[in-house]
Amino acid sequence: MTTITSQNLVDLFLAIAAAIDQDKERLSELDGVIGDADHGVTMNIGFTAVKNALGGLDTTEADPTTVFNTSAKSFLNAVGASSGPLYATAFMRAGAAVKGESALDRNAMVEAFKAMAKGIQDRGKAERGDKTMVDAWLPASEAIEAAAERDESLAACFAAAATAAEEGAEATKTMQASKGRASWLGARSLGHMDPGAASTALIVRTMADVFAH
Ligand code: ADP
Ligand code: MG
Ligand code: MG
Repeated sequence: MTTITSQNLVDLFLAIAAAIDQDKERLSELDGVIGDADHGVTMNIGFTAVKNALGGLDTTEADPTTVFNTSAKSFLNAVGASSGPLYATAFMRAGAAVKGESALDRNAMVEAFKAMAKGIQDRGKAERGDKTMVDAWLPASEAIEAAAERDESLAACFAAAATAAEEGAEATKTMQASKGRASWLGARSLGHMDPGAASTALIVRTMADVFAH
């Protein structure tokens, strides 16, 4: 893929929804160790709502910003957990980043991705090393920016982001949580992967898989 249409974006959200659905038990298990065991369930509720809302869009009419905004609203309305406002902000920011564009080239997709990462950080105020999804989103954002600066293809940019997100999620095992529920555990959060970072790695890998062809 070199240019991403509204329909391609809808297909991307559907692929993410399917990946989350498939992995929801593992995500809730990870959350069971350092949180309240619902992360797979909450993410699945959110992306199922996104899937249903996008099913009602006419992609010959809706522009990419509308796809992102529709996703944001449905995710926020469906999810009460901390990931609700975080992902809603991410999708809103992505929509704002590509406003006015009818289809997205590599640079526009990279800007949308970076806007998602920044939105999550702005909304949740987590810093790197706090053991949250930010520890996967920020390295992924930096990796995609670096790949775009090297003038790599859309597929290669997202592959670099996915690898960085996976490494970032893995690195949360060595971190002590200082944001969200897991922070109540103190040093007992050490040694366990943050569930939000794990779902981020899954989401970004799914993006890379979709954009690989
Ligand atoms: P809840 O904690 O409300 O049950 P979830 O289980 O859906 O929500 O999500 C938990 C994940 O949310 C954590 O693993 C962490 O990655 C992420 N998270 C929590 N607080 C923040 C924050 N302030 N900023 C970024 N991510 C956060
Ligand atoms: Mg939870
Ligand atoms: Mg919860």
